[in-house]
Amino acid sequence: MSEVLFGVKTAPLTKHLVFPVAGVAGVLLLSCMATPPTSVLAFDGGRVLAANQGEAEQVEGLLDRLQPELLALLPDTEFEDLDVWIQDTPSLYRSPTHASTDAEGLWSPTHQRIMLSRHADHIERTLAHELTHAALGESWSLLPGSMEEGLADHVSGALCTSGAARLRAGRLSSACLATGGVSLQVDVTPRTDAPQHGWSAAIRLKGTADGTDPMDVFRLAAGLSSTRLESGAKRGFYGLAYVAVSRVVDRLGYAGLQELCLSAAEQGLSQVPPRWILDAAGLDEEVESWRRAAAMGIGDAELGELVRMYPSFISDAIRGYLETAGTELASIEDLDVQVRLREGTSLIRLSELPDLETRVARQLELAPRAPMTVALAHR
Ligand SMILES: [Zn+2]
Repeated sequence: MSEVLFGVKTAPLTKHLVFPVAGVAGVLLLSCMATPPTSVLAFDGGRVLAANQGEAEQVEGLLDRLQPELLALLPDTEFEDLDVWIQDTPSLYRSPTHASTDAEGLWSPTHQRIMLSRHADHIERTLAHELTHAALGESWSLLPGSMEEGLADHVSGALCTSGAARLRAGRLSSACLATGGVSLQVDVTPRTDAPQHGWSAAIRLKGTADGTDPMDVFRLAAGLSSTRLESGAKRGFYGLAYVAVSRVVDRLGYAGLQELCLSAAEQGLSQVPPRWILDAAGLDEEVESWRRAAAMGIGDAELGELVRMYPSFISDAIRGYLETAGTELASIEDLDVQVRLREGTSLIRLSELPDLETRVARQLELAPRAPMTVALAHR
């Protein structure tokens, strides 16, 4: 049955594109659509379909807050009645297609339906992202390629500040990884009175999508389920789109970004020319200009999140220090561990990230920081 579906592609695809229909077997198709979640909560403006009433009410609460804030934030936006389905794996279909299995959220304009994973990293942020797709008016359709993804991410970061640093860290590092990588330095210094040498490790994070032409972000719509991309490449384009959009919005606001769309429409263009976006973002066509912009966007908070995403390089660096120094340590608090970006000034200390510090201590079989020390530090 999956072969039939795959070949026919009769059903509207998730996201913005609808494929042409050819030789439809409607019954087969319907039988393959995902079964709706059982608990339905109807309200003014739509319905939430979830596993139970509690889950549905939680999401309705998020919609209550996010929808008006989004309308106030972005010009040319409005909501029609929409459904939000909460699923284990967001999908229109009973057997999720490869393209959608790693997505935490989907928007189907044809069904006016947002599908959210109940296991999403930050469900509120994912909802805000999909709501942006749902709300964008006609003028925004002139954004080329993957730019709408960058906009949806930027809006979700603005509306959900608790998840913003993590989102930025993910997008900016993906953009770096697609364009040559980013270099970090880990400095490990023992906290003892006796003079001892420290240890530094330089780490270059490189990705599978390295070698991406950043200008493809204007040609490829990475968010469409019809765009077949390996997940590293897809993340790279989301990252590059985020870099471009955030730099335009930082300089000109959302209104300035929309102005580019309105000007293109006035001139009878079907899309905003990439050159306009490059100029507004202070970027050029060279790979290095994108990589540098992404790396420079990583501040202290984003660096902390980046380290959380790749914790093994911290434990490896500490292991390297311990082996070279031939030292036995009792506790993680005997070490001062700093991570910094080799370009720019962003710097974090492991002791500022207690959750990560405890994890690293466990990996190295060192005692975690004693609670007493934390209390003393706040004196
Ligand atoms: Zn999206």
